[in-house]
Amino acid sequence: MGILGYWLESLDYDYKVLSHCSRYQSPRSSCMECVASCPKDAIYIKDGQPTIDSKNCIQCGDCVASCPVQAVEGFLPKRSIINNQYIMDQDKVPTLKELLVYYKKGITTIICEESEISPEWEETIRNVNEVLTKLGEQPFKVSYQQKAPDNNDDIMTRRELFFTWEKDLKQIAKNMAPAKWRFNHESLDLPKYYPDYQFVEITLDTQKCTLCKACQKLCKRNCLQIDETGFSLLAQNCSNCSLCQDICPEGAISLKEMITPVSVVKHEMYKKVCTACDQVYETLNKEQELCVACEKKKQFSMM
Ligand code: SF4
Ligand code: SF4
Ligand code: SF4
Repeated sequence: MGILGYWLESLDYDYKVLSHCSRYQSPRSSCMECVASCPKDAIYIKDGQPTIDSKNCIQCGDCVASCPVQAVEGFLPKRSIINNQYIMDQDKVPTLKELLVYYKKGITTIICEESEISPEWEETIRNVNEVLTKLGEQPFKVSYQQKAPDNNDDIMTRRELFFTWEKDLKQIAKNMAPAKWRFNHESLDLPKYYPDYQFVEITLDTQKCTLCKACQKLCKRNCLQIDETGFSLLAQNCSNCSLCQDICPEGAISLKEMITPVSVVKHEMYKKVCTACDQVYETLNKEQELCVACEKKKQFSMM
C-alpha cells in the first residue's frame, strides 16, 4: 500500500459504546463479549458499563464484531474485495461473523496471493465452512493467485511519486467502492441474513416461570411473547444478548448457541383456581395448585 493509502487508512474515529448496550439496559446484564474479545485489554467494565480506552485501542474491530446487539459503534478494518472476491491479508483475519455476512452479499471466494495460508486463516476458513454447512450453504472457495508486484516502497522521483499517488487513489477507489464492503456495527446482525435459521436455542422452564413478563419487556427482538394463550419463544431473531437469562428472577430461561432451522416453541397457558386463596390465576404448569403469591408464602414459611 502506498503513502496515500496508509494516510486514508488512518482516518478512522474512536469506537464508542452506544446506549442500547445490554449493560445500559439492565444492571443485571452479565455481558462481557466486547471485553473478552479485545486483544489489547482496551475495553473494560467500569461502574458496571463497558468503557473503551482509546489510547490502547488498535481499532481491530473485534469488539464491534463480538457485540451481540451491535452496541459498539465503529467500522471494521478495511478488507480488500476485488471483483466480488475477498483478497486474503495474512495479517488481518476477519471474524467469522464478517465472513458470514460477506457470503450473503455474494462474496463466496477467498483469494490467497501467498504460497500457503496462515494457520489463523486456515482455522477461520474451517470454522466458517462448518457453520455454512449447518446453514445449508456451500463452503467458501479458496483460490491461489500470483500477487502483482508492488514497488511502492522503492525510492522514487517526484514525478513517480505523483504517478504512484494517482495509481493509489484509483486502487483505493476500486477497493473501497462500493462502500458497502466496509462494514460497521450495524452490518453484523446475522439473523437478518439467514432468516431460515436460528442461532440460539431458548429454553423455558415452565415449572419455574411465574409469568412476571420482565423478560418480555426487556427483549428488544420480540422473541418472548406472553399472551392469554401461552408463552411463545421465537428464537430466529434472537441476538443471544443474554438479557432474558440474566434478569429472570426465577432462573427460568436458558440459552444455548446452536444453529437449527427456524422453529417456534409455544407453552400453553392454563387458567386455574388457587387451592389456598380461591383466586383465579394463570400458569404454564398444569400441575401447579397455588397462585404465585401463595406459592411464595409457602416457600417463605418453609425457609
Ligand atoms: S458486548 Fe455489547 S452488549 Fe455486551 S457489554 Fe459490550 S457493548 Fe454491551
Ligand atoms: S421467564 Fe422469568 S422473567 Fe420471563 S416471565 Fe417467566 S419468570 Fe418472568
Ligand atoms: S430472547 Fe433473550 S437473548 Fe434473545 S434477544 Fe431476547 S432478551 Fe436477548
